[in-house]
Amino acid sequence: MTTELEVGLYIFLLAGFLGYHIITRVPPLLHTPLMSATNAIAAISLVGSIVVAGSDYSNVPNGWICTLLGLVAVLCSSTNAVGGFLITDRMLRMFKTAEERARGKRRPVELQAVTGVLVGLLIIAAILYGTKPANMPFGEYLHEHVAAEALRYAYIVSAALFILGLKGLSSPKWARTGMGLAALGMFIAVAGTLFHPHVVIYRWIALGFAIGAVIGAWLGLSIPMTAVPQRTALSHSLGALAACLVGISEYFRYQGELSRVTLVALDFEVIVGALTFTGSLMAAAKLQELLPGRPLTFRGQNVLSFILLAVIFFSGLYLIITQAATPFFYVMVALSFLFGILLVIPIGAADMPTVIALLNSYGGLADAAMGFVLMNKIQIITGSLDGTSGFLLALLMCRAMNRSAFNVLFGAFGQVSEADVTAAAEAKGTVRSITSEETAVLFDTARSVVFVPGYGMAVAQAQHAVAELGNILRERDVDVKYAIHPVAGRMPGHMNVLLAEANVPYEQLCEMEEVNPSFPDTDIVMVVGANDVTNPAAKSNKSSPLYGMPILEVSRAKSIIVLKRSMRPGFAGVDNELYYDEKCMMLFGDAKDSVTKLISEMKSLI
Ligand code: NAP
Repeated sequence: MTTELEVGLYIFLLAGFLGYHIITRVPPLLHTPLMSATNAIAAISLVGSIVVAGSDYSNVPNGWICTLLGLVAVLCSSTNAVGGFLITDRMLRMFKTAEERARGKRRPVELQAVTGVLVGLLIIAAILYGTKPANMPFGEYLHEHVAAEALRYAYIVSAALFILGLKGLSSPKWARTGMGLAALGMFIAVAGTLFHPHVVIYRWIALGFAIGAVIGAWLGLSIPMTAVPQRTALSHSLGALAACLVGISEYFRYQGELSRVTLVALDFEVIVGALTFTGSLMAAAKLQELLPGRPLTFRGQNVLSFILLAVIFFSGLYLIITQAATPFFYVMVALSFLFGILLVIPIGAADMPTVIALLNSYGGLADAAMGFVLMNKIQIITGSLDGTSGFLLALLMCRAMNRSAFNVLFGAFGQVSEADVTAAAEAKGTVRSITSEETAVLFDTARSVVFVPGYGMAVAQAQHAVAELGNILRERDVDVKYAIHPVAGRMPGHMNVLLAEANVPYEQLCEMEEVNPSFPDTDIVMVVGANDVTNPAAKSNKSSPLYGMPILEVSRAKSIIVLKRSMRPGFAGVDNELYYDEKCMMLFGDAKDSVTKLISEMKSLI
């Protein structure tokens, strides 16, 4: 006989393999939307949170604690569900071809989807009404005869819709439709859960959902695209907190009666949920510059972290072996919160994107563990999909940086002192600077221009000015391209989102492999706040920390103009040989100011 646990494990593994195949087909162009899409789908923790918030605890001593934990979990999960789908849609709406932009507004997907859902619901309601026994009230018929069966099928339908949703991300053409299907999947799963046999009290669910939806809508609609990395971290923290709270509530309710298998899943859920919550909060605070971006370390930190980890591990083991009801469980959870902080503060802000992708993966695994605790298969599926996606993205980032995940987590990359930088710069020789007037004259004769955006473009919020300059050049029949390095910026696909926001059609965004061969025929390469991704040392200097990282080979172009504020290095903390190249000219200043001045100079040349 196959047990429910075995079925759960099969589902977990198969969903992971399926996720791997679907996610490897998502182009780098859509990696940032992929991160927020999996984040939104991972808000399926709402299903478990609803069950906890809506259960009857009248025979549980201090049962209100479970309701309170459920209420907060519903609030966190619905913030993620609403916010996650809204911001993903905002991003995807920006990815348009030149033809679609010229055509104006896209077909209103939302209107069609909402109409479809309403029509579908009406048809289902009519069929149910028609099939109910004549003398039975409709509500009773639904609860007694339909709910349990319907719930099972609702979960199967939503799992299929989530997978189709992620599949849609394999092309910008289908991405919005895909996310519409995933949102429908979430709606079906959540609406179905309201009929779950354990859900009997609705007021706390409604309260948590209302507050979460307002916060989620505010976050999803108001956050600027440049703040997407920290928003993603924040929503991982909320998802992980929901998983952790649901686990605590289940332990509080059933302590002493839980099987060893359930305790394994529950331990995993609360430990990983807790450390992902505080770890993600630290990551968001570093990216938002609320905490210093540099690695924060103190004496004995590694020893303390190691002792904490050992205590957490052995506490979990003790709970599983003894199956005892003990307050020790809560100490283990508190230590896991602390461990999450210690795990992330020693990592520099620039490595946060990789850390965020890994935390995304942890959050997914905590969700899947919640699925095992509640024996809820939809949570096992989405948790596995989320876990695979985060892990794959983290690996892709590491590969694009030519670094190992171990080095990211424990390597303190990029810690080069000011003195080293100055010394390196002095040793290299002459740097040529150029003014906006001179740059405008150069542009006046150029026939082909490639823009290379980097992190500095995001800092300066120069994407709109860059796009405007690109349009001016295009109007003058100049061949304009945007060269996108997979790890330019601070999120995979970061530059694609910013340029799409500035209305650059996505067919003008060229991936590294595509654009590198065209550099020798390019008149001007304009590097806008990019540094490491153009550093020739990655190809030539074996002792450089960048050695082996594939780069945009801009030094092969006829002339190079670099927009940055100073000679300071980029994220890797190493000097860039490119700036001493004879063909390279530095246009110093904030990228947005420089491009804006350049545009007015060019206009005055007409
Ligand atoms: P970068 O190497 O960090 O360089 C950014 C440059 O922008 C800096 O040299 C800085 O110089 C300049 N800058 C900053 N603010 C500016 C402003 N307001 N105006 C003009 N310039 C400004 O960035 P990158 O070339 O995009 O490379 C990304 C780096 O991040 C890579 O090393 C990559 O491995 C790493 N990374 C990326 C990801 C990802 O997913 N994208 C993940 C993890 C790590 P000044 O200070 O002199 O202005």
